Amino acid sequence: MTGPEKGLPSSSDKQEGRKQSSGVEALEKRLARYGNAAARQRNNLGYLAQLLDAGRHSTPDMLNPVWPDVFKYVLDDELKALKAKLENCGEWLQFRRYKETGSTHLYRASLCRIDLLCPLCAIQRGAKHLRNYKTKFEVIRMGYPRLIPVLLTLTIKNGFDLQERIDHLFRSVEKIKGKRRNAKSGGRCQSEFSKIAGAVGSYEISYSEKHGWHPHLHIVVFLTDWIDQKALSEEWLAITGDSKIVDVRLIDETNLTKSLNEIFKYALKFHSLTPAQAFECYLVLKNRKKLFSLGVMRGVQMPKSNTMEGLEDEAYDELQYWFRDGKYKPSSPAAKKLHGGDD
Ligand SMILES: [Zn+2]
Repeated sequence: MTGPEKGLPSSSDKQEGRKQSSGVEALEKRLARYGNAAARQRNNLGYLAQLLDAGRHSTPDMLNPVWPDVFKYVLDDELKALKAKLENCGEWLQFRRYKETGSTHLYRASLCRIDLLCPLCAIQRGAKHLRNYKTKFEVIRMGYPRLIPVLLTLTIKNGFDLQERIDHLFRSVEKIKGKRRNAKSGGRCQSEFSKIAGAVGSYEISYSEKHGWHPHLHIVVFLTDWIDQKALSEEWLAITGDSKIVDVRLIDETNLTKSLNEIFKYALKFHSLTPAQAFECYLVLKNRKKLFSLGVMRGVQMPKSNTMEGLEDEAYDELQYWFRDGKYKPSSPAAKKLHGGDD
């Protein structure tokens, strides 16, 4: 990230040089992040290969000491197909780096798009949603200036049975929707949730040895009136029967990207999961929607983006990288030249 220019005025050459080098630095950081994600994906892939090789029904304990029920229903064909997709993911990345501005875009890549098992694809998915919903947020903000934008977090009590906890989470979301509908159609149901004019939310799951699975919801919400946190907590407890921890805070609009990133970053905290646990998450969540939206967040008329049109005429370098020895290394001449090496 580049910070604002500070200090003595420098010549435009110097400024240009700094911009160029910070652009390269940012790209290198990005490649390192992608490299770590791809390496983690390879761990998950290794686990799938192990499952197939070992014949998991005969020796489950070897691979997963706590063998959740959900594993019983995986077919070898599904495993094989998954493995094939993951094997081809992230082998190479191709960027376009625009000469005039130095801005760099991931232009092409071989991606599996199984973001519950692949941190690299989870990053791409998060970035895409962030771009889309940031624009939607801004459109709503302008269209409904009186609504209050907040970040709402609803947590589900920890537990060791992932399937049960996830079912519980999604059932609770359905109850919230029902309460809103009831209040909107003039029902008697008094609800803090009826102050929600619009929302987009997603789940996040982490794991700890001591407390088990920890699912929670992060939701960007536009409120008609400020929520009473205590009342909300009581209501959430009434809905869930076991969970009362909620958090409401005003969205920091001076750093909207950071605030919204809370919603659209990884659904899974991959670093807290073993490959067996990541696979369990995949099995439990693969047919679940990852995002849900309500009210004014639905059907927003998006302004036509002119970003790509603007860039089309600009000259660019094509940068290509291979995933080798656990990281992304330059493979095209322009990429090698940019990073000042030929490895
Ligand atoms: Zn992938």
